[in-house]
Amino acid sequence: MDICELSPAYVRAIAPYQPGKPITELARELGLDERSIVKLASNENPRGLSPKALAAIKAALPELARYPDGFALTQALSRRLGVPMQQIVLGNGSNDVLELAGMAFLAPGCSAVYSQHAFAVYPLATQARGAHSIVVPAKNFGHDLEAMLAAIRPDTHVVFIANPNNPTGTMLTAAELESFLSRAPKNVVVVVDEAYNEYLAPELRCPSIAWVERFPNLIVTRTFSKVYGLAGLRVGYGVCHAQVADLLHRVRQPFNVNNLAIAAAVAALSDEDFVRESYELNVVGMAQLLAGCKRLGLAWIPSYGNFVTVEIPRAGEQSQAAAVFQKLLRLGVIVRPLANYGMPDHLRVTVGLAQENARFLEAMEAVLKD
Ligand SMILES: *Cc1c(COP(=O)(O)O)cnc(C)c1O
Repeated sequence: MDICELSPAYVRAIAPYQPGKPITELARELGLDERSIVKLASNENPRGLSPKALAAIKAALPELARYPDGFALTQALSRRLGVPMQQIVLGNGSNDVLELAGMAFLAPGCSAVYSQHAFAVYPLATQARGAHSIVVPAKNFGHDLEAMLAAIRPDTHVVFIANPNNPTGTMLTAAELESFLSRAPKNVVVVVDEAYNEYLAPELRCPSIAWVERFPNLIVTRTFSKVYGLAGLRVGYGVCHAQVADLLHRVRQPFNVNNLAIAAAVAALSDEDFVRESYELNVVGMAQLLAGCKRLGLAWIPSYGNFVTVEIPRAGEQSQAAAVFQKLLRLGVIVRPLANYGMPDHLRVTVGLAQENARFLEAMEAVLKD
């Protein structure tokens, strides 16, 4: 017998996550110098990490023989967000918190609702539990909250909402999201994934943490992977009612966030200059990319994150995005193809440093003329 048949059919049916191509891999494949490669494929902070976070990591190195203690980070978040520590759950990336929500609330026989073109971890967290996915068609590439509300069935336990959404960059207003939360059944967990919250203009941010008080079925997730520049350390968190947090803790690995990640996240949280400068760089870089796309005659989906999704014109009926992606790779520029998100005509480009954005635009111009 094939040993893999012991695995539940719903596990074997999972399509593997496709990460952005690593710089090291492209360098190996093309024999390029790693330093000549521009990676705009995973929405990382192009400035790297905060010097304060780096110093905290170095200071924490001698402690690596000890198991981690998340207290310092939970306390720092509690103070920053103004919620009790009991309402905070740390994760190995916010990805982990999304998985915890799936583990705690999904099982075979129930369903999760999420949008077409939404973040790829929602189907993974759903399928890994043997739960059914209800994928609601997007509206202008964004979440159609009315349709999502209508799609909720008696067996629906979880709704996943990304705001802003990756890979489309679309955003829901606070009024839209609040209206959804008010009308969603109270016995459905609503996960609001705010990985890009810090990249929103302050007046566009939702009072989502305050909503947790009013909506015991709400879990808000955030991450240190994006504006805080700690993607490689894997650290994020969820905020929810204490009883919900208690459930998430039960399915959580006891030491899911490591010492270095905890130390770095505490320092990163306190480095407000770094966060502000990263936000400002993104505003300028986004304008640079959009001006360049306009010049090249490319359309894009208006984005509220640190990336923009660009439409690659077809040649007749034929989608060109995959070919453009490959040609960009040969020029040492890594972006993200989106066919696995049901968007075969789009490429997602992370906002980089000014010279990286310029490299992308030059390469794109060369490829389009080709
Ligand atoms: C990047 C991202 C995450 C965060 O991933 P981490 O596990 O925290 O690195 C979560 N949700 C969305 C929509 C993202 O794009």
